[in-house]
Amino acid sequence: MSMEDLFKVIDSMRHELIDLTREFIQVPTVNPPGERYEEMAEVMAKRLSEAGFSTRLVRVPDERLRELGLELPRVNVIGVLKGSGGGRSLCYNGHYDVVPPGGGWSVDPFGGVVRDGRIYGRGAADMKGANAAMIVAVKALKEAGFRLRGDVVYVATPDEETGGHAGAEYVVKEGLVRADACVVGEPTEVDKIAVAHKGVVWLELTTYGKAAHASLPHRGINAVEKMAKVIVSLEKLKAELAKRETKVPMPEDSRTPTMMVGGVIHGGVKINVVPDRCVVTIDRRLIPEEDAEQVISEIRGFIEELKREDPELRVDLRVLEVASPAYTREDEEIVKVVRESIKRVTGRDAVITGLTGFTDMRFFNQVMPTILYGPGSMSQAHVADEHVAVEDLIVGAKVYALTVLGFLGYKK
Ligand SMILES: [Zn+2]
Repeated sequence: MSMEDLFKVIDSMRHELIDLTREFIQVPTVNPPGERYEEMAEVMAKRLSEAGFSTRLVRVPDERLRELGLELPRVNVIGVLKGSGGGRSLCYNGHYDVVPPGGGWSVDPFGGVVRDGRIYGRGAADMKGANAAMIVAVKALKEAGFRLRGDVVYVATPDEETGGHAGAEYVVKEGLVRADACVVGEPTEVDKIAVAHKGVVWLELTTYGKAAHASLPHRGINAVEKMAKVIVSLEKLKAELAKRETKVPMPEDSRTPTMMVGGVIHGGVKINVVPDRCVVTIDRRLIPEEDAEQVISEIRGFIEELKREDPELRVDLRVLEVASPAYTREDEEIVKVVRESIKRVTGRDAVITGLTGFTDMRFFNQVMPTILYGPGSMSQAHVADEHVAVEDLIVGAKVYALTVLGFLGYKK
């Protein structure tokens, strides 16, 4: 069996790949709040078993759900395909939750419509298509008669779109997933490998003042005006951030940390009352060289400085969410193997890049070298008429299959 024969097997599974992607899209696993997860997990487990995996469902215990403030069940799917021994093991991961569809669709977002060589639907690109391509890739290897030396561990996780705490973070922290490397199938486009992603710190700043009648504003302290000064001062910190350039691969316009102030802002209750409170959010993106704790203390230090300059300034800082950045060195074996696989399938040299958004890579990366590679484009994620090209799914499946062979080793 040559590589060309393997490619023929995958080409012949075109309709199976389309149907599997459609089947996944047709379960509306909308998150938040996390709908239809049990049904989705059952569907995936069934398809994994058919592909030769021994499969189990891992439910997040109620107690943990309560701590996370979640009401609906959270189920992770873990499949293991045992090798004959002596090879490295590889983890494939995809999240199966999707963001709410929103408006503006010309097709049913959960219909799985196929038109002009594309599959449409929420999650087509981000990332039910990749889940389907990973499963079909492994099934094709079995059908083509390859006997793998190492194990393939496939893990499908919920909740990526809301931070991954009951999904990837849970399975990693519980020690349920371990391999020599991991590929997360986020849509990087078929000839790109993302070896890094940025992190995020979400903060909420509150200034406090003193209410007074607007006809006598000097008797109060205006919390909104105080916040305005804080916001303007933060420009200095932004200028500092613009000088910090990452050394890891990132898109040209995303090579520095960023800070976006005022995604949400509230203040005041009435036109003629001096506002006694103002709340503003900060979205601070971290380059892989940065550490979330250091970033938070940098902002705290900056605020303390402002307080010293203005003794009347009362301000609180609250951390809403932290997601660490992630980076895997380009000389890791998994990067080399995926790179070679892309070359063999597409004939093109892979582009090594990073993602500006955060992903579940940051959890898997704590226990094994992890990269992002998947069919479809991030520009399709979270938009109306989300779609993935069938051709890209096929290329993705071929790259996934070759990566398994290259990383695990095989006997024919
Ligand atoms: Zn995604």
